[in-house]
Amino acid sequence: MKAKIVIRRWIAAVALLTVSLPVVGQPSQSRKTRNVIVIMSDGLRWQEVFGGADSTLLRKAASIGRADGNENASREMKSYSGRNSNERRRALMPFLWSIVAQQGQLFGNRKLGSNVEVTNGLNISFPGYSEILTGVVDARIDSNDKNPNPNESVLEWLNRTPQFAGRVAAFGAWDAFPAIFNSQRCGFPVNSGYDPFMLLPDDSVIDALNRLKTQGPKIWDEEPFDAVPYYTALEYMKQARPRVLFIGLGETDDWAHANNYPEYLNAAHRADQFLQTLWQTVQSTPEYRDSTTIIFTSDHGRGDGENWTSHGKNLPESKQTWLAVIGPDTEAQGERRNSQEIRQTQLAATVAALLGEEFTRATPNAGSPILDVFESGEILAKEEGASGINSVKSYGAFALREEFRGWSSSKQ
Ligand SMILES: [Zn+2]
Repeated sequence: MKAKIVIRRWIAAVALLTVSLPVVGQPSQSRKTRNVIVIMSDGLRWQEVFGGADSTLLRKAASIGRADGNENASREMKSYSGRNSNERRRALMPFLWSIVAQQGQLFGNRKLGSNVEVTNGLNISFPGYSEILTGVVDARIDSNDKNPNPNESVLEWLNRTPQFAGRVAAFGAWDAFPAIFNSQRCGFPVNSGYDPFMLLPDDSVIDALNRLKTQGPKIWDEEPFDAVPYYTALEYMKQARPRVLFIGLGETDDWAHANNYPEYLNAAHRADQFLQTLWQTVQSTPEYRDSTTIIFTSDHGRGDGENWTSHGKNLPESKQTWLAVIGPDTEAQGERRNSQEIRQTQLAATVAALLGEEFTRATPNAGSPILDVFESGEILAKEEGASGINSVKSYGAFALREEFRGWSSSKQ
């Protein structure tokens, strides 16, 4: 008898899930996001995002030679110093710590109990981008080798739907992005490395950027300076109005590997300026204004202290990353504390869910959407907190727990 009741209740729970839920993956009348931009800064540490420049590392950098003759790092000492971490992070990333902190949300400050983590265990770039963009950890992707990704990214999946077809694009500094997105298969433009962008042949801005790319100095074999792919993406955005756009910046990782802390900081500062220009462009363009969510994050962290230059599985702390979100569906909660742990595998489904789509339909084992970035998700989290249950994974799980709650109370 008891078993029957239990079964009936489970059937009811499943029916509830399939009929009225999951809300998060379905088009919602209240969801305002129609476009999503993901911008990433390779290997930028949460320590700098939340703490600003590390004064020990900056002082130490003064002893390292610089190509521009600024050998004592005096410019960076002046620009990024501060009496405390609040002042220093505002100096380093002023847009993040003004507009995003006022209007969006920032996750990953471990000192406040907010954790964002890499899942793949390798803490290197190709697996990191793949995890973020496809929602899954694939054991076959265990290096930065540029093999075509067998997994489908959320961009590719969206581009296969009628409403997003032809409205998806990716631009990156690193020349691995065509492999990460599988450009042979994915069906949308992926421009990276020193490849000129050929899809807007009459555009004078693109023409100038292509010349810079092909005729400028090549400090790194695999990628140009970030400004080139960034402004290529921005011009494409103005001309073609993509609804899903990816921008990958690489300098933070390159300067870090070169043990050049001042330039690493400058690259982070420029990433913040790029984010600002992106947001200003969004908010001054009718098709994007108040209907675009920007996600800003990184593919991995880096080592602590002296190990700041490196990352990988031998530096477990380099799994620690961060995440910033600003857009019409994200409550203005600023810097989060004691938040639900976020995994990189959740980003792909979050991008889809912001657009009212359910990515796990295509990739069932992808991480679930990050409910904290949805206004209604937050309401649920508050309800959960009020009733003493502190774990909210998805609306489905929530409904199931509601049912469980009814069941346990009837059992007493
Ligand atoms: Zn690296």
